This record gives sequence, structure tokens and C-alpha cells, in this order.
Amino acid sequence: MHVDHGHLDVLARHCRDQEQRRAAALWPPRISRFYASLIDRDDPDDPLLRQVLPDGRECHVVPGYDDDPLAEQACRQDPGLLSKYPGRVLVLCDGPCAVRCRFCFRRHLRGRAVSGGSGWLKSVRQALIAYPDCHEVVLSGGDPLGMAQDRVRCLLAACDALPQIKRIRLHTRYPVAEPSCISADLTASLAAMRAMVVMVLHINHPREVSPELMRVAARLRQAGVHLYAQSVLLRGVNDQLETLLRLGEALADAGIVAYYLHQLDRVAGAAHFAVDDARARRLHAAWRASASGYLVPRLVREVAGRPCKTPL
Ligand SMILES: *Cc1c(COP(=O)(O)O)cnc(C)c1O
Repeated sequence: MHVDHGHLDVLARHCRDQEQRRAAALWPPRISRFYASLIDRDDPDDPLLRQVLPDGRECHVVPGYDDDPLAEQACRQDPGLLSKYPGRVLVLCDGPCAVRCRFCFRRHLRGRAVSGGSGWLKSVRQALIAYPDCHEVVLSGGDPLGMAQDRVRCLLAACDALPQIKRIRLHTRYPVAEPSCISADLTASLAAMRAMVVMVLHINHPREVSPELMRVAARLRQAGVHLYAQSVLLRGVNDQLETLLRLGEALADAGIVAYYLHQLDRVAGAAHFAVDDARARRLHAAWRASASGYLVPRLVREVAGRPCKTPL
């Protein structure tokens, strides 16, 4: 997908000190023009800006925060494949994200965890066949929709052609950060799939549910795609009850089911986003006490080595 990244002025305006520039060198910022348009440029504490703006604190070494918090390197079965959970195989696509989140738990795995090249599709097929109990493919990354359109289509078609695969799931932030990438062609090919298609959108703040996202969501739902959202609980971004309530309402308005609220993965450079467990539980309990049950996502943490996400 082509994303216009020529719009980094919003970051430049806010990059002041040397440590911040060092953070930017460690994990070069990426922000789509569309996502930049959602940011309130006059507010240095804008919750969307905070998610993408390099911060000097990313350079600080904090005990307990490391490069591979989920021990994913050890779970890689084949180049680009992760099989940690029963029944599901996760494909790490090498498509770039439309925005680089500063708290990305794969920020230190880039260029290593993903695969590319001509033999890639064949090896994905062979690997899936090698797991006969796998009924669901999870396309993650990077971002699967960051790949070239024909590669996305080939990968989807290859998965759909395997009778054992009942569900194809895409984990993506494109509908949020670059909704124009959800083309009519893509929607049509999703609508034509045999397997059930699930899209899990990464959405952290009610302002990320733009009118453009709502239109794309409506089109995807019409195409039979099941829409879910996962959010990360982030200090200074969405760690207020009022924000979470608005997020739940905005997702419902868009026809997106709130799925997970993740406790932050302890990746090096992201410690300043952490919300402690006691506060996370209190916020979640208050959310449950104030909204319809089905509008409140499950609060979970990923613990390396466990066969599923762990409820808090
Ligand atoms: C989170 C995750 C999944 C999907 O888990 P669900 O609970 O089914 O959403 C699959 N594989 C890996 C490696 C994951 O981290």
C-alpha cells in the first residue's frame, strides 16, 4: 500500500532535545499524512501525537523492559511464522506499518522477524500444511496491509485455498491510520473468500475513530468482514475512565467489537507508557460498571510462554 509519509513536520515541530533525537534515530518515526491530520498540532500532550512522537525517555534503560518481551524469537517455527497458541499460526508479514507506535513490542525485531522474497508464499503454505490442527491464520507484522496489494491478494488466496483454514484474521492499523488503503478491490476480494474473514484493528483513542474509519468499517462489514478492536492501555493516552468510555462508544458507533485491552508489553523504550496493574484493574472495573457488558474489552497481558493471553 502506498502511504504518504512526507508529512513529518508535525513531529519536527515537537522534537526539541538531543535525547529525543536519539530516540528518533533508534526507532525512526513514521506517520501517515492521514494520521497526522488527526493530531491537534497545538497540543504537545495530544494523545495521538504521544503515540508516534519520539520521546527522550525511550533511551532510558529500565529493569524488566527488554528487546523481546514476549520471547518471540524462541517461538519462530519458520522464517516469518509464529506458533505460540493452539489452533492458530501467526504470519509476520513484512509490510511496513502506516504509523510506528513508540510502544511497539516488535520495535527491536524489525528486519529479523519478517521474511520476504519469492519462496515466501510457498514456505507459508508448507508450514500451514505442517500444522493440520491449525484452523486459523493470523496475519500480523509489521502490518499485512502494508504489503504490496498483489502480495496481500496472493497471501489471502493461498490461505483461502487450504481447506483446513476456517478463519483468516488480519491484525492491522491501516483502516485507522490510512483508511484510503482499504480499496474497493481489497474489499471485493475479502468478500469473495471462502474462509471467515476477521479484522482486528489496533485503536487506542476515541479520536482515532474518524469519519473515514467509520466509512471503511461500514464497507468492510457489508463485505462480511467481522471487525474487532484491540487497544493498549497507555499512560497519558487513554488511561482515564472518561477516555475509555468514549472509546467504547466510538467503537460501537463504528460497528467494531471491543476485543482486548492489553496491558503494555514490557519492551525496552516503552516504560513511560506503563500503567500499573492495580490502576489498570480499577479502570477496567469502573468501565464495566458504567457501560454495556459487550462494549467493554477483556483486560489482558501477554506472558511469555503461556498458551493464551492472561486475563488480569
Ligand atoms: C495474540 C496472539 C494470537 C491471537 O490470540 P487470540 O487470543 O486468539 O486473539 C496468536 N498468536 C500469537 C503469537 C499471539 O501473540
